[in-house]
Amino acid sequence: MTVYNFSAGPAVLPKEVLVKAQSEMLDYQQSGMSVMELSHRSSLFEEIIQTAEKKLRELMEIPENYRVLFLQGGASLQFTMVPLNLAQEKKTLYVETGVWSKKAIAAARSLGNVEVEVVASSKDDQFRHIPEIKKEQIDQSAAYVHLTTNNTIAGTAFQKIPDVGDVPVVADMSSNILANDYNVKDFGLIYAGAQKNIGPAGLTVVIVREDLLGDGVFAPMLDYKLQAENGSLYNTPPTYSIYIAKLVFEWLLAKGGVSAILKEDKEKAALLYEAIDRSALFSNPIEKTSRSITNIPFSTGNAELDRRFIQAAEAQGFINLKGHRSVGGMRASLYNAFPKEGVIALIEFMKEFETSCAD
Ligand SMILES: *Cc1c(COP(=O)(O)O)cnc(C)c1O
Repeated sequence: MTVYNFSAGPAVLPKEVLVKAQSEMLDYQQSGMSVMELSHRSSLFEEIIQTAEKKLRELMEIPENYRVLFLQGGASLQFTMVPLNLAQEKKTLYVETGVWSKKAIAAARSLGNVEVEVVASSKDDQFRHIPEIKKEQIDQSAAYVHLTTNNTIAGTAFQKIPDVGDVPVVADMSSNILANDYNVKDFGLIYAGAQKNIGPAGLTVVIVREDLLGDGVFAPMLDYKLQAENGSLYNTPPTYSIYIAKLVFEWLLAKGGVSAILKEDKEKAALLYEAIDRSALFSNPIEKTSRSITNIPFSTGNAELDRRFIQAAEAQGFINLKGHRSVGGMRASLYNAFPKEGVIALIEFMKEFETSCAD
């Protein structure tokens, strides 16, 4: 049975990447060792981390004045590192669009000495739309405006990055990095946990404009400046995750890069949304102009029927369709590595299920 993994993360990886990793598993470039066994100071690993950065720069067209960091601690540690490094006794502004931005806000507040203002929120309609942000709302003396480009749980995404004047935009891009055509220069800092669209868990990518690196903070591991000065090798980085990320970047470049995958991603999402919108049984709760192409929640409106659907789908190889516990229903995550055939097969299965319900 073909398995289609709709997980929100850790998520599906390109089969080609896994096959390549398998072929190099026991003997990486005639070293007689696996990548996992290489010293992070060896020339073989140095080449891996440098190539990973180079390929990511190519894919996202990252300008020269931005540094790329390969860190640990997940996107969640960035909720703390961002205000710790960037707030600099200035006010910080947050856009509240779901569970993850709420956590980012709470983490900034927990630092105690950071002033946090929520400038826009879609909490009142259970995060079913992306709120509008006007430049006039933005205090131009703020350290940054934080937003979540794609809301993995709610199923919304910023279609374009709001103009906030000269205040740097900090983006949690965990679930749609490399799956959109945002311009890096529209951001002061971008961060993303790798386990959605980049590679295995354990790696967090940070892309930060040089002038925002700051003067250093008291805690070495939490200091962007120190991490940048050490080329992400201050301590042992997640070497194998970086290696797989490098393979994913190479895979994506070979496919034609972000614009090519974005076209595929849009096609996949359009197919599923059309099917949901056409269906008399399933529906998607999100305002149409705010819909994510990456994470698509849907439900029958009946928890028991949703449960039966998820169970029946699983038996057919459609795995991890259960929605986030805070939303319920189903959620299909269609990351870059998720094949179009899987979407087509799911739609077919949804139709059959709907027909069987009508009988
Ligand atoms: C998954 C996710 C996170 C949490 O990532 P961790 O790496 O588990 O800390 C944060 N933000 C967004 C948008 C996510 O999708």
